Amino acid sequence: MYYNISYDIAAILILLVIVAVMNTVLYTESAGHKLVRRYVYAVIACAVIDIITAYTISYGYLVPDSLNMILNSLYQYSSAFCVYCAMSTILNYYPGASKTSVLMNRILLFLLVSFVTINLFTGWMFYFENGAYVHGRLYLIAYALSLTIIFHMLYVVLVNRADTPRRITRIIILFLYLPTIFTVIQMLTNNILLIVFGEAFSALVMLFALETPDYRKLLKTMNELECAREEANVANRTKSDFLASMSHEIRTPINGILGMNTMILRECDDPKITEYAENIRIAGNGLLSIINDILDLSKIESGRMEIIPQDYELYSVMNDCYQMNRMRAAEKGLEFVFENDPGMPEGYFGDVVRIRQIMNNLVSNGIKYTVAGSVRLKAGFVRDPDTGEDGKNEHGILVISVSDTGIGIRKEDIDRLFERFTRFEENRNRNIEGTGLGLNITWQLVNMMKGTIEVESEYAKGSVFTVRIPQKVTSGKPMGDFSLRQKEHVSTAPGDTAYFRARGKRILVVDDVNMNLLVFKGLLRETEMSIDSANSGAEAIAMTKNTKYDIIFMDHLMPEMDGIEAFHRIRDDSGNINHDTPVVALTANAIVGMRASYLSEGFADYLTKPVEQKELLTVTERQLKDHNED
Ligand code: ADP
Repeated sequence: MYYNISYDIAAILILLVIVAVMNTVLYTESAGHKLVRRYVYAVIACAVIDIITAYTISYGYLVPDSLNMILNSLYQYSSAFCVYCAMSTILNYYPGASKTSVLMNRILLFLLVSFVTINLFTGWMFYFENGAYVHGRLYLIAYALSLTIIFHMLYVVLVNRADTPRRITRIIILFLYLPTIFTVIQMLTNNILLIVFGEAFSALVMLFALETPDYRKLLKTMNELECAREEANVANRTKSDFLASMSHEIRTPINGILGMNTMILRECDDPKITEYAENIRIAGNGLLSIINDILDLSKIESGRMEIIPQDYELYSVMNDCYQMNRMRAAEKGLEFVFENDPGMPEGYFGDVVRIRQIMNNLVSNGIKYTVAGSVRLKAGFVRDPDTGEDGKNEHGILVISVSDTGIGIRKEDIDRLFERFTRFEENRNRNIEGTGLGLNITWQLVNMMKGTIEVESEYAKGSVFTVRIPQKVTSGKPMGDFSLRQKEHVSTAPGDTAYFRARGKRILVVDDVNMNLLVFKGLLRETEMSIDSANSGAEAIAMTKNTKYDIIFMDHLMPEMDGIEAFHRIRDDSGNINHDTPVVALTANAIVGMRASYLSEGFADYLTKPVEQKELLTVTERQLKDHNED
């Protein structure tokens, strides 16, 4: 008899595709998947043996009967193993199945295997005679046993169906009966080998109908997680945007208050009133620094904080920090010392704004948390021995350490020191203002600059904060001793703010808040320039058509037409006599923080509110000079 093996070959191809898919895109470590994989391998082995026996039976006259007997028994064993794997796969979906049912299943399988083994010696199931396959006397027992196994498993599935979703139970019944149906067809057609094909088909059903939903569930969960992450990001962005707009709202009135106050301090001789104004200045600056902290944090969180390196001189950064904090240290009677290694380089390339902020945070904390004794800042530079010649383009680590003889920090608190909103010993420090944000911001800024921060502290004795930041050297000239330089600087420094006079120059300032316009004019009054003002973008455009200005100061955020649009309308109108006038952007929106983006829009410069008089004067003088040179 000749057997048609094409279905076996088709089965092997289907199974190989299943193996490939299960080991790549659908790979999971789930128990169900492992069992299906094992079932698939078993069916492949069975198919291969089936093909071999198809040949040995077909060419029985060339093959010894005993070899045919062994090969066919091997096929029976392998199909029993397939049944075992299929049953284990099913039982995996019915964990509630009783031990007795599992045992019953194993006994039936054992009987089947035993029957195949006994057949080797008795020929009860099948035997070979002169190369021909002959059914044994009891061959129906083998079919009966196989059917019993299947019916028993059907019974187990139905009894335990409540434990498993109905969909799965239906598929398992299909999985159980597909091979049975194909077996019956094979028996009827006689020479077509369909059993393995049926098994491959049921493996396919099992994989795509049972296991893939798990995979799909996984994908669905992953999608849901992705959506949740996106939602969280959007919520976070909304929060940052809210903070950004809140900053605008809060900084604008502070700008007015502090500006007006500067004028009171400058113009009023009454000591009582100047004292009140001085208190307003201190409280206003405190409020501003809290808002700045919150803004910095939201900038860092939303990834909008950028490190913007530029050339700077360390002396002036240290001096700024010294001047900013010296009064507070003096008020508390603290010894306040800034020292440095005089041989360290003078000029560096780095984000000077952030380095100044880090220094300020540490120094002001030192003063805040020290009742008596001293606060010291030490600066040094550790050269990278592998880089730089002649002191230029040299790399190294800038080391700044701030030590105090203050309240110190308990050992157990040190690990949490850089977490946000963390303040220790609230009771003891009740009178010390703070938000618990400063050190977190400092830590994040140091990290952004690829530096490190370290703390050593002894409770009730004092603390030392050491920051190490990699920096490039731009001038290897020794910086000299800080305090000596400071003395020289003080003796040659001009008195107060140095005004320049620019009578005859005309500027336009555009802002929707009247008080800001007033402050602005007040800050520039001494320069004797003519200052016009406009309340809106539209008004500014109208004014620029008639009067030639030397500089235009343009607020960014204004209702109706914002400053950027107004700027472009002036710039793009070649008939406008001010189309090439330098325009300086004014922004209270510190979160934007992108000097570069203003410059790329075409603005000549930009100033953040509250506008500092010194900065305003510097920018104005520079623009006048640049413009005259053109
Ligand atoms: P803030 O000072 O606004 O509370 P920080 O983030 O700057 O917030 O500091 C967090 C906490 O760390 C402070 O509340 C204080 O308990 C502690 N701390 C910071 N610096 C020092 C210091 N130099 N000495 C002692 N404790 C400090």
